[in-house]
Amino acid sequence: MKAVLQDKTYEELAALVAQAGEKPFRAKQLAEGLTQGKRISEIPVPAALRAALLEQFEDEPVRIERVFTAKDGTKKFLFALADGNLIEGVLMKYKYGNTQCVSTQVGCRMGCKFCASTLGGLVRNLSAGEILGQILAVNRAEGGVKDRRAVTNLVLMGSGEPFDNYDQVVRFLRNVTDSRGMGISARNISLSTCGLVPQMRAFAQEGIPLNLTVSLHAVTDRERARTMPVARAYSIREILDACAFYFEKTGRRYIFEYSLIAGENCDPAHAEALAELLRGRPCHVNLIRLNEVRERSLRATGEREAQAFLKALTARGISATLRRSMGSDIGGACGQLRASYVNGEEEPPMSQGSRKRTESCCGKRSRAPKGETANEESGEEEAQR
Ligand code: SAH
Repeated sequence: MKAVLQDKTYEELAALVAQAGEKPFRAKQLAEGLTQGKRISEIPVPAALRAALLEQFEDEPVRIERVFTAKDGTKKFLFALADGNLIEGVLMKYKYGNTQCVSTQVGCRMGCKFCASTLGGLVRNLSAGEILGQILAVNRAEGGVKDRRAVTNLVLMGSGEPFDNYDQVVRFLRNVTDSRGMGISARNISLSTCGLVPQMRAFAQEGIPLNLTVSLHAVTDRERARTMPVARAYSIREILDACAFYFEKTGRRYIFEYSLIAGENCDPAHAEALAELLRGRPCHVNLIRLNEVRERSLRATGEREAQAFLKALTARGISATLRRSMGSDIGGACGQLRASYVNGEEEPPMSQGSRKRTESCCGKRSRAPKGETANEESGEEEAQR
C-alpha cells in the first residue's frame, strides 16, 4: 500500500508542493481538492505534480463500497481501504445537522464482551488520513460544499478504540478541525474511549476541547471486569480522576456511556450506586439499551426497566438521557456489517426476514426484545448536542 496524502497537515502539503518546485498556491488547491473528497487524479494541479503524488500516494485511500439507507434517513456506509480491508460508519440526520460516526481501527483489541467490533481482534490501526477519508467520502457523496458541509458533527464511536491509536487519532483531530480543511469545531466532535487512563490524561493537554465520552457500563471494578477486560488495567476511580483532570484542563463536561445489560448492571441498586459515584461531577450519562450481538450471550434490558433506571438517576440529580435509536430498519454497522461482509453474507441483516432490530448511533445491530418495536425508544437525543 502506498502512503496516504490525507494524513498530511496543511503545512506538510505545502512542503511537498515546495519540494516539487511548484508555486505555493498549489498547496491551497491541493488541500481544497482533498477537502472536497476528490481523488488525487481529479485535482487540477500540473501534470508533473499529480504524477509525482500518484507515485507516492494512494489515489483514493477510502472508497465507499456500499450504502444502506434507513427510513429515517440514517445511512450506513461500508468503506473499502486501499489494502482491501473494510470498515464501516453511520451518518445520522438531525434537525441541527448531520453526525457521522467514524471508525479508528480495523477491528479492536479491547475485548468488550458486548461489542461486535472486537470479535476478530485488532487487524490494524487506521492512519489519520483513513479516518478523515471516511468523512471526505461521505461529505462528497452527500453533496457537501465548502460553505455548507454535509457532515457537521462527528462521533468517534465506530470500530476501534481511539486511544489505542492515539497518535493517528490526534493527528486526524488536528486536521479535521483545521479551518483550511473540513473545519469541524472540536465542540461538534465526541470521542468515546473504554477508559485508557494515561491517554485520557495526555489528551487533556492536547488543546482539543472535544466532548470526551467514557464507556463505563458498570459501577464497580469487579462487575466492570466481567464485560470489559480493560477494567483490570484501570479502575473506575482512576477513570473518574482522569475525567476531572480533563474538565480542569478544558472546561468541558464529560459524558459516560452506560449500556443497560439485563441481569448485569441495571438493578435499582446499580442506579443508586451510579448516582453516588457521579454525584456533583460536571458530567452527563448516556444510557442505551444493549444492542444484542448475535455472537454474544448478553441480553438487553427491557424498555420499562430502562426508563426506571433513567428516572432513578435523574431523581438523584444526575443529568442523564436514554439514547434514541436511529436507522432501525437497516441493520449491521460498526463491526457487524463488516463481519457479515467478511463472512460472505452479501445482504445487510435487515433483509434476512422480519425480525426487528434496534441499533445505536454506533450501530451495533441487534434484535429488539420480544414484544417491543424496534425504534422509537425514548425520543431523547444524545446529550452533547
Ligand atoms: N472503543 C470506544 C468506542 C466504542 S463504540 C469505547 O469503548 O468507548 C461506542 C460505544 O458503544 C461504547 O460506549 C461501547 O461500549 C458501546 N457499545 C459497543 N457495543 C455495544 C452494544 N452491543 N450495545 C450497546 N452499546 C455498545
